[in-house]
Amino acid sequence: MTDTVPWSYAPAPQERGIVTIAPSYGLFVDGKFAAAADGRTFATVNPATEESLAEVALAGEADVDRAVRAARAAYENVWGPMPGAQRAKYIYRIARLIAERAREFAVLESLDNGKPIRESRDVDVPLASAHFFYHAGWADKLDYAGFGQARPVGVAGQVIPWNFPLLMAAWKLAPALAAGNTCVLKPAETTPLTALLLAEVCQQAELPPGVVNIITGAGDTGAALVAHPGVDKVAFTGSTEVGKEILRSAAGSGRKLTMELGGKAANVVFEDAPLEGAVEGIVNGIFFNQGHVCCAGSRLLVQESVADMLLDRLRRRLAALRLGDPLDKNTDIGAINSRQQLDKIRELSAAGETEGAERWSPPCQLPDRGYWFPPTLFTGVSQSSRIAREEIFGPVLSVLTFRTPEEAVAKANNTPYGLSAGVWTEKGSRILWLAQRMRAGVVWANTYNRFDPASPFGGYRESGFGREGGRQGLGAYLDA
Ligand code: NAD
Repeated sequence: MTDTVPWSYAPAPQERGIVTIAPSYGLFVDGKFAAAADGRTFATVNPATEESLAEVALAGEADVDRAVRAARAAYENVWGPMPGAQRAKYIYRIARLIAERAREFAVLESLDNGKPIRESRDVDVPLASAHFFYHAGWADKLDYAGFGQARPVGVAGQVIPWNFPLLMAAWKLAPALAAGNTCVLKPAETTPLTALLLAEVCQQAELPPGVVNIITGAGDTGAALVAHPGVDKVAFTGSTEVGKEILRSAAGSGRKLTMELGGKAANVVFEDAPLEGAVEGIVNGIFFNQGHVCCAGSRLLVQESVADMLLDRLRRRLAALRLGDPLDKNTDIGAINSRQQLDKIRELSAAGETEGAERWSPPCQLPDRGYWFPPTLFTGVSQSSRIAREEIFGPVLSVLTFRTPEEAVAKANNTPYGLSAGVWTEKGSRILWLAQRMRAGVVWANTYNRFDPASPFGGYRESGFGREGGRQGLGAYLDA
């Protein structure tokens, strides 16, 4: 996409050799790596090139059982009885080691996931480390957290998606460990590598065996984990569809559950908003991480009086985004994580056109190999259209307009989801007025996609329940 800016960029590749990828990886159970009981494996692929990066063990029921037993033994014998201040030392060590090995983590994340190195380096990895630092601080202060004499829940079974592989692992493990639980974590099948590097970090931190177990595999492995009778708490982040399946299977089990599911957030721009800032916020809201973000601002609601002006600026800005090699430090938009996700984005975008919306993308050369989708805008979108209702989970923005604040609220809330929202206006009173009426777990004002480990995050309705981060997130791992 360099033809639309008055200069061209020299390649600025991040050196790949900083990380060593083994030809194959075992499951991390009881402090050691081992092959699956039945020897099955699967390949994990670089989505930018389609090259196979490594073979990874595929955990079956016997492996899940072994991991849960290891977690139980570690909970009862070591981690549960350990004083909080002692647990904190291990969690601090993990935080420090992630920071020390940040470049390795960032390159590996970009290779396995397809996200630009600029994002994995500046967002995913520092936030993952910060999450462990923050929660280490809680480990010896649980009695003062306002939960009474709370006890850990026990063994946590945790299943995460592919969009922020390391960060989601940190969101799950850090609060669980701080609260005194032990964990069995299953990363997504397309992005297992940074979770396995985190397993190495657990070894390096001399975390007692069995406190963290990482088992790789696809949906069947996840299903076996969340159904295992030895699991006391299930924490799931992923699609609403799978979340509902897990809820059905867990009904009546009395287990503690948290569900972080999908979203279809509205990013609302009023006519008094600073438009240049709003354009940056819109771009960050939907094109960050190729739009593979549960809280992505995938519906732009713009006040009619400034819609044309805003869209002109937005198109100019999109024409300057650089799509390509995720390991190039100039890249803004990397690869779509998998063929399956690319097909879903294509299918929903085609549906948008069929339903009468107007599609626009800047001139953009897509690489020959790998999975790519250009940044895309749809205007003239009706509220009933699939691209206004369904989570696309790709770099596709649906634009709708409104005239009055009341109409903005009605349209923003016209979704089965309720994870996040954005508001852009110069008026503080309008921010508060709108935030009170938005049915969303997070409302950002004059910014978007800002995260902090101290701030709880989570949704309503089809976006799930429970919170991660902050004191509230800690509570999900305590039997209060
Ligand atoms: P997914 O639901 O297909 O998979 C998520 C994880 O669940 C994967 O590890 C997968 O292997 C596993 N899984 C699949 N079937 C399972 C089953 N029957 N039982 C147990 N585990 C199973 O979702 P995805 O495509 O990997 O991720 C994208 C989704 O995640 C989007 O909907 C996105 O909005 C959501 N997400 C939500 C948040 C949040 O905090 N609310 C954060 C990130 C992603």
